[in-house]
Amino acid sequence: MTQAQLSDRFGLQHAASRAEGAASAQERRGRLETLKALVLERREAFARAIDADFGARSAMETGLLEVTPLIRSLDHARARLGRWMRDERRPVDLMFQPSRAWIRHEPLGVVGVIAPWNYPLLLALGPTVDALAAGNRVMIKPSELTPAFGALLEAAVAERFDPAVLTVVNGGIDVAQAFSRLAFDHLVFTGSTRVGREVMRAAAENLTPVTLELGGKSPAVVAPDYPLDKAARSITFGKFLNAGQTCIAPDYALVPAGQVRAFAEAVLDQARRAYPRLQDNPDYSGVISDRHRVRLREAVAAAKAAGAEVLEHPDAGDGNTGKIAPTLVLNPPSDSLLMQEEIFGPVLPVVGYDSLDEALAFVAARPRPLALYGFTNQARTRDRILGSGLSGGVTLNGTMLHIAQNDLPFGGVGPSGLGAYHGPEGFKRFSHARAVYDVGPVNAFERLGPPWDGAAGRLAR
Ligand code: NAD
Repeated sequence: MTQAQLSDRFGLQHAASRAEGAASAQERRGRLETLKALVLERREAFARAIDADFGARSAMETGLLEVTPLIRSLDHARARLGRWMRDERRPVDLMFQPSRAWIRHEPLGVVGVIAPWNYPLLLALGPTVDALAAGNRVMIKPSELTPAFGALLEAAVAERFDPAVLTVVNGGIDVAQAFSRLAFDHLVFTGSTRVGREVMRAAAENLTPVTLELGGKSPAVVAPDYPLDKAARSITFGKFLNAGQTCIAPDYALVPAGQVRAFAEAVLDQARRAYPRLQDNPDYSGVISDRHRVRLREAVAAAKAAGAEVLEHPDAGDGNTGKIAPTLVLNPPSDSLLMQEEIFGPVLPVVGYDSLDEALAFVAARPRPLALYGFTNQARTRDRILGSGLSGGVTLNGTMLHIAQNDLPFGGVGPSGLGAYHGPEGFKRFSHARAVYDVGPVNAFERLGPPWDGAAGRLAR
C-alpha cells in the first residue's frame, strides 16, 4: 500500500467520523455481530494462515488463546454495551443548583491499531472490539511477520465491512511508520518497548493519545510455603504455550535457593508430559523466524559459557528445525542477556533466593513488568508479594489468567505499557468522557455577578 492510498483510507474514516454523529447502540451491536460472524466463519482459515506464518502453530492454541477470548470479549461487550453507554449523572455543588451535570461517553473518532505477530488475530481484533463498542472507526495494521494472516484478515474485513468503519492495511515497516504518523484520534500499539517509543514519538506530532501494550520480563515468584510441583505445573503451562512467545509468559522463576534444581527438573518433567515429542508434534509451536531462534540459542549458550547449568527437553532436534526445545537455565548471571532482556521463547531461567524479601527486592529493583506471578497459600505472603513492587497485572497461584478476565483491565505500567483496555476500561479508553452541564431554567449563579457589594461579594470573601 502506498502512502497516498494509506492517507486516502484514513481520510475516508476521518471524514465519516466528523460528518456522521455517534453510532447508536444498535449500530455498534451490529458491527460487533458482523465481526463475530467473520471470526467464526474463518476460524479454521485463520488458524491455517497463522500456522503457515509461524512454520508451526498449534491449531488448539490458536483456538484456545485467540479465537475463544476474542469471541468471549465480543459477547461480553455486546451484552454490556447499553450499560456502558449510559450517561453518568454527577452531583452538583449547592452554589450551582438548580442544575444538572453528567458525563456522555462519546466515540473519539478514528482509532488506529498496530498489532504484533505473536497472537496476530487476538491482538489485532481485541482492541478493535473495544474501539467499535465505543462507537469508533478502526484501521488495523497487522505485523509484516504474519503476511498470510494479514492478507486473510484484510480480505475478510473488506468483504464484510464498509471501509469507512473498519479496514485493514498491510505492508512492511515503512507502512507501519507511515501508519503511526496518521492523525488518529487514538492509537493502540502492541509490540516491543523499543518500537513503542518510536510510535509514541510519531503520535506526539499529532497530539494523538496512545495506548501502548508492551513487553518486559514478567517474574514468577514461588514462596517457600507453596508446593513446588504445583507451581511447576502452572509455570510450564504459561511458559511453553506458543513456545514462550507470549507477552505475559513467565519470563523467569524465583524459587528458594535449595530448590532450584528440583524445580527445574519438575518443569522439564511437566514439559515432557505436555509435549512428549517436539519436532513433528502439532501441539508444540515453532519460533517465528531464524533471527528469533538465533537470538534464543545465543542467549542460552552465553549463560552456559558463564557457568550456568542448562537442562533441555530430550527431543531438542539438530538445530535445523523451526522449533526450540523447552530449556531450563539454572542461576544464570544477573548481567547475562537471559536476565536482562525479555526472553520471548521457551527458555526459563530459574533463579534461587535466600529469603523471600531478597526475591521481592530483586523484582522491585528491575523495570516494572507487564505481569507478576506469585505462588503462596498464605494471606500474609500474598500481601507481601502484592505490596513489593508494581506490575501491569497479577495472577496469584497460576499464570496468564488475569488476561482472560473480561471485567479486569489489561495493560502494563512504565516500560511495560501505558493505558489498559478490555471490558469497561476498554470502552472508556476509546471514549471521550464529555462533561455536560445543564444550567436549566434558572441561572442563579449569574445573578451573583457585579456589582460586588451584595451577596456575591460576601460569598467571594
Ligand atoms: P515489534 O515492536 O517489533 O512490532 C510490532 C508492530 O509494530 C508490527 O506490526 C510492526 O510492523 C510495527 N512496527 C515496527 N516498527 C515500527 C515503527 N518504527 N513504527 C511503527 N510501527 C512499527 O513487536 P513484535 O516483535 O511484533 O512483538 C513482540 C513484542 O510485543 C514483545 O516485546 C512482546 O512482549 C510485546 N507484546 C506485548 C503485548 C501486550 O499486550 N502488552 C502482547 C503481545 C506482544
